[in-house]
Amino acid sequence: MGIRAVIFDLGGVVLGSPLHAIARLEEEHGLERDVVNRHVVASAPDGAWHRMERGEVAVGDAFFAEFDRELAGAGAPISSAVLFERIAAEAQPRPIMLRAIDRLREAGFKVAALTNNWSDERPGSDSSFKRGDLHARFELVVESSVVGLRKPDPRIYRLTCERLGVEPAEAAFLDDIGSNLKSARALGLTTIKVVTPEQALEELEDVVGLALR
Ligand SMILES: [Mg+2]
Repeated sequence: MGIRAVIFDLGGVVLGSPLHAIARLEEEHGLERDVVNRHVVASAPDGAWHRMERGEVAVGDAFFAEFDRELAGAGAPISSAVLFERIAAEAQPRPIMLRAIDRLREAGFKVAALTNNWSDERPGSDSSFKRGDLHARFELVVESSVVGLRKPDPRIYRLTCERLGVEPAEAAFLDDIGSNLKSARALGLTTIKVVTPEQALEELEDVVGLALR
């Protein structure tokens, strides 16, 4: 089956990487590398981060207090409010990825975003990812905090393919987190791990048979 659709993760793929922002904060605090992400993975499915990404709790004071307690208990006594500031500052669009998305759409591919994200209840918050501008680039945007499912739950990939009107075998999926890709691959999607934008687009060019850079 040929590829008819391309599904992009946002953070660390189309936008700057939240993992880089988190790693820098860990380093500044002299913490063990990856301690925050390990806590997130270990606290599945009902830790504060998971509920936040499923939209069951919004980002705000109550979430920060709970996640601060979890992080301290995991050996990472940092402020999650600061963590979210850093993630938001890092989440700038990557022009090379925006151009590739435009080229895919011009060539007739269905192009979606599939993001684990959150809603923000803080006053004056314009949402972390300046959603309007970015979302207009895609035919479809699936947000974990809206649909109540988060990657790597297989149901969110099925939902995305259904909404795009394609079979999983007709879709390519780019993400920067290996466990998100593993689950998608098991359903039959063609997956690309994004280490750098250039490397990922080179692999995507092979998959879609189109120059994207
Ligand atoms: Mg990501």
